[in-house]
Order: sequence, then structure tokens, then C-alpha cells
Amino acid sequence: MNAEIISIGTELLLGNIVNTNTRDLSLMLADLGINVFWHSTVGDNPARLRESLLLAKSRADLIITTGGLGPTCDDLTRQTVCQVFGTEMYFDEKVKAELEEYFAAWAPNMPDNNLSQCWLPKGCTPFYNTCGTAPGCGFQAEGKTVLILPGPPKEMRAMMAHGGLDYLRKVSAEPIFSHNLHIFGMGESHVEEMLRDEMNALQNPSLAPYAKEGEVRLRVTAKAENAEKAEEMMAPIIALCREKLGDFIYGVDSDSLENTVLQLLKEKGLSFAAAESCTGGLIAKRITDLPGSSAVFRGGCTVYTNEAKNILLGLPYELIEEKSVYSPEVALALAENIRKILGSDFGIGVTGIAGPDGDGVHDVGTVFVALACEKGSFVRHLHLGARSDRSRIRTLSANYAFDMLRRALTGLEVNG
Ligand code: ATP
Ligand code: MG
Repeated sequence: MNAEIISIGTELLLGNIVNTNTRDLSLMLADLGINVFWHSTVGDNPARLRESLLLAKSRADLIITTGGLGPTCDDLTRQTVCQVFGTEMYFDEKVKAELEEYFAAWAPNMPDNNLSQCWLPKGCTPFYNTCGTAPGCGFQAEGKTVLILPGPPKEMRAMMAHGGLDYLRKVSAEPIFSHNLHIFGMGESHVEEMLRDEMNALQNPSLAPYAKEGEVRLRVTAKAENAEKAEEMMAPIIALCREKLGDFIYGVDSDSLENTVLQLLKEKGLSFAAAESCTGGLIAKRITDLPGSSAVFRGGCTVYTNEAKNILLGLPYELIEEKSVYSPEVALALAENIRKILGSDFGIGVTGIAGPDGDGVHDVGTVFVALACEKGSFVRHLHLGARSDRSRIRTLSANYAFDMLRRALTGLEVNG
């Protein structure tokens, strides 16, 4: 089954809003093993929407629209979709009852134009809206499967979770099961090179890479009658990836490096603290984004200037002057001192140049990440490249810090 997602809204074309629906839906479809071959965006214009739908109908098995389901006159999706698929509409009494109940709760009189939302394609499976008013639906016509979803992202996601995904599982021939292997420290092209033959040859299960800032993911997907069978099919592929990529794989179905670190620290009852210069608190932010981090993260500080490094963490000015603030020695002193001051099992120290201006001596992207623990102290010298911008340099630096922690926690070489 291959799919086309059509997002509808003039605001999208004007760049006023970011098309998060298409991304979210694409991720959901990938999880179901449905190939998304096309993304289209069209304004609130019936003629052009019709054109888009006709094109999608000519090339995709599954067409998903988002937006244009509201009660106002620029909301034309339902009618246009029904015209293109030659489907009649019916008035859904349950939608009407739900709308009346929804409005009764906060507005005494429901505007009449809301009733336009009760018209749905005949024979469809309605998806009732749990956080807004416009219902969506799924239906089949002319050999195609069509899903109509609302524009507001919260409503769209809730509708997929409560109806849309189940509908798609039912209409796609065989259920899909997948695992994501998360890789850090090796670039996408390198990963691809190592597994190119398998990626090209494998169909079921299949193996495909995708990159996320600073890391690479491999998705193993199997179509099978049940989960047990799928696991059996995927196991040798996962084993093969592990054999080839070794400890560059930091997790399976874990959603981030920091989450892997959090789980490992929790399991072992250990803690860490971070002294951050160029990451500006990003390590602290990323770990505290996760629920449960208070059990493993003692705290930290952003020591951006030499004064802060001296006053808060006791780094001697002589050390900074003699070795340079961008030096392994400073990173190590940051890691060791924050560990000592906060009494954590691990201490992280980061210093480097995020740019765009350099200091005339070091290249932009020069970063030192240090890890202090009972076994000793370790430091990595990173060259993140003058082509990286500040945000990327910070993200990658934080990634490396979490990866060093992960390595220390799993008995691997920290500087691997
Ligand atoms: P409503 O009942 O709110 O009118 P609707 O289904 O008609 O819902 P639209 O009018 O197209 O949806 O969009 C409503 C709002 O939803 C937009 O203003 C925008 O904030 C958001 N939205 C719409 N489409 C997208 C999209 N593809 N990605 C992200 N946000 C979107
Ligand atoms: Mg609208």
C-alpha cells in the first residue's frame, strides 16, 4: 500500500504555519509499514484541491487529507473529496448529537453552520472528534482508501490514535511490526555503506535507514500474521546489524540517547551532574525533559564565562589562561569539580566554540567533552566542523556527552 498525504490550508502555502501534520502522519504510516510516496500541500481552493485529489487518486492507494473540515465557508474538504470519489453524503445524527452536547457545555446556542460538519461520505467509518468539533472519517471508493482528518494537530493526532490507526490496520492486508535501532557515532552514509547489500536485497523484513540530527536510525519492518512470527523474522536482521555496527547501536526502540542514559542510571542507582559552557544548559534541559530524571540528575551549572568557571566551580584562572578555555584540561576540571561539588557518581564537563566567530586559534566546532567517574577521567576532542551552526554544535556536543555516559555505564571504552 502506498500513500499520499494532502495537507490543505492557504496558511501552509504562505508559510504562516509549519506543516507538522504531514510529518506526524508520515511517522505514523512508517510505523504501520505503509510507504508514503507523496506529500502535497494545497490552499483552501476547491478547484486546486480537486486537482490534487485527482492526481493522488491516480497514483496512490491511500490518500489522507488534513484540514478544511471546519464549519466555515473556506472549509471545503468533505464536499470536494466526495465529488472526486463520486460518493454521496449522509447526515450523521451521532455527530449532531455530539456537537450539541459539546456546545451545550460552554455555549448555549450552537451556530447553525456547525451542522455542515455532520455531512459525511456514505458508507464511511466516522472518527469522532475528542478534542474539537469536526469529525473525520475513513472510507473506501474506487479501489482507494481515503482518510479525512481535521487540521488542528491535536485533533488530528487524537483522531488517529482513537480510530484512524485501527482503521488503517484493518484495511492494510497484513499487520506490520517494526523495531528501530538507534545508532550514535557513525554517519548515515557509513552505516548505509556497511549494510547497503542487505538494505537493497531485503523486502520482508525490510531494513531502511533514516537520519535524525546527529544520529542515525535503522528501521527493521516485518509483515506477518502475528507479532511472534514477525519477531522471528526480524531477529536475524537485528543480530546482523549488531554484528556489523557493534556498540554504535545505543538502543532498540529507545527514543533518545538521554533516555537510554536515564534508564541505565536508574537501573544502577547512579547519578550525574553537568558543568556546561558551550552547551549552555542543553544537557540539563534534555535530561530534565524526561520524567523520572530527578532520580539520576543531581544538577549542574552553566559556566559560560571564565569568571563563572572560577567562582562557581573553582577553576583557577591560571589553568584557563595557561591551557586556554577550549582545552581538555578545562573540560576535565569542569567534570571533576561538578562531580565533587554535587557528590554525583559521574561528572560531565563541556567547553568549546559554538561560533560563528572563532577565537583566532581554534576552529569553530572545537569542543572538549569530559567525563569524570570513579574509574578516572576521560575527555574527547571533537571537531564538529565550521559548517555546523551553533545549534548543531550544541546538540552534537550534548549527544557526545550522553554517549560517553552510556559507554561508561555499559562497560565500554568511554572514548570509543
Ligand atoms: P477548524 O475546525 O479549526 O477550522 P479544520 O479541519 O478546518 O479545523 P483548518 O481550518 O484547515 O482545519 O486549520 C485549522 C488550524 O489547524 C490552522 O489554523 C492551523 O493552526 C492548524 N493546521 C492546519 N493544518 C495544519 C498542518 N498541516 N500542520 C500543522 N497545523 C495545521
Ligand atoms: Mg477551518
